[in-house]
Amino acid sequence: MKEDTKLIHAGRSMQRQHQIVNPPVYHASTVLFPTMDSIDEAQAARARDERPMVYGLSGTPTTWALEDAVCAAEGGHRAALFPSGLAAIMGALLACLKSGDHMLVADNVYAPTRNLANGLLKTFGVETTYYDPAVGAGIGELMRPNTTVVVVEAPGSLTFEMQDIPAIAEVAHRRGALVVMDNTWASPMFFKPFEKGVDLSIQAATKYMSGHSDVLLGTVTATREVWPRLRDAQRQLGQNAAPDDCFLVLRGMRTMSVRLKRHQENAFRLAEWLMARPEVARVLHPAMPHDPGYAIWKRDFLGASGLFAFELKAAPRKAVAALLDGLELFGMGYSWGGFESLIVPAHPEKLRTAVPWTGQGPLLRVHSGLEDVADQIADLAAGFDRFNAAL
Ligand SMILES: *Cc1c(COP(=O)(O)O)cnc(C)c1O
Repeated sequence: MKEDTKLIHAGRSMQRQHQIVNPPVYHASTVLFPTMDSIDEAQAARARDERPMVYGLSGTPTTWALEDAVCAAEGGHRAALFPSGLAAIMGALLACLKSGDHMLVADNVYAPTRNLANGLLKTFGVETTYYDPAVGAGIGELMRPNTTVVVVEAPGSLTFEMQDIPAIAEVAHRRGALVVMDNTWASPMFFKPFEKGVDLSIQAATKYMSGHSDVLLGTVTATREVWPRLRDAQRQLGQNAAPDDCFLVLRGMRTMSVRLKRHQENAFRLAEWLMARPEVARVLHPAMPHDPGYAIWKRDFLGASGLFAFELKAAPRKAVAALLDGLELFGMGYSWGGFESLIVPAHPEKLRTAVPWTGQGPLLRVHSGLEDVADQIADLAAGFDRFNAAL
C-alpha cells in the first residue's frame, strides 16, 4: 500500500466497529467477566501479548485502533500510547535505561527531554552526555561501555540541524546501544525511522497527527526486539491515552497527508520569501538547498513539514516585539502542527552545552499553517514594517 492509502485504512476493523467508518469511543475502567475461567483466559492472553479486554487502562478497541494506525504509519512492530508527547519520551527512555547507564543526547533535543535527563533520570543514576548533532559516525568516540541509549532528533525542533541517523545507528548497534528518536518534526509521513536504524520512535501526536491544536497525545513505536521492554514500561508506569483523545488523533491522521503537503509547500514559499528579506540573517530549514542539513535531508527524508526558523539581524527587543505583537494571522504560542500559523521567539543559547549556539540575532520559530501563504507573507511583511519603524 502507498503511504496515503495506509493513512486512510490503517487501524480500521469493520468487524470490530460494526461496519461504522470510525471506531467507537469506549470509555472504560471496569470490564466485566462472565465466568472465573474467562478471567484466567483473559490474563493468559494478555501475558501472550494478545489484546483481551481486561481493564480500561490496558487498552480498548479505541486505543488499539490508534496503536495500529500509528504503527502502520511509522513502520514498526507495535506502538504504545501515552497521554502526551513528553510522557511518551519518558516511557521510551525508562523502557531502555537502568541505574548506572550512560545516555547520549543530541544537543538540539526538545528542551523538556533535557529536563528529564538532568532531573529524574540523573536522580535515578543515569548519566547523560550531550553531543554535537553533526557528530555522525563520530558518536563512537563518545560511547562508553555502559552507554545503552542514543537519543536523536532530526531536525531539532528549535534550530533544525539534521543528524546522520543511519551512521549513528550503525555505530550504536555495533556497541550494543539502542537509538531512540523523537520523530515529531517529519511525522511518520516524511521519515521512516525503522528503515534508518531507529529502535524506538516517538511522536508527539499532539502536533501533525492530531493537527488541530486541541489534544495532547504521545506515541512510541518499537521494533519487535524492543517492544516487550516498551510494553512492560508502559504497563508499570500506568500510562495510556484517553479515549476521546485517541479518537481525535485517529481522525486527524486520516487527513494528515493532505495537510502536511500543504504545510510543506507553504513553508517552502515562506522560507524563500524570508531569505530575500534584508532584515533576515538566515533561514534555518533543512529542506532548503543552502542549509547545512540539506544533503542528509534529501538522502533520508521524504518531505518537510511546516516548522522552521529564521534569525533576524541583531535588533533591539522592542523592534522584535513590534514585529510579533501586531501579527494578525500568526499566533504566538507553544506547540505546533495545527492548521494555524504560529511564531515564537526561541532561545537555544540558554539550552546548549555541547556546542554553544553561535547565532547573533534574535531567533524566531515559525509554523506555517494552512492559510493562503500570500496572507501569511502579508502578515509578516506588515510585521517587518513595524520592526523597521521601531529600530
Ligand atoms: C511538542 C513536542 C513534544 C512533546 O509533546 P507534548 O504532547 O506537548 O508533550 C515532544 N517532542 C517534540 C519535538 C515536540 O515538538
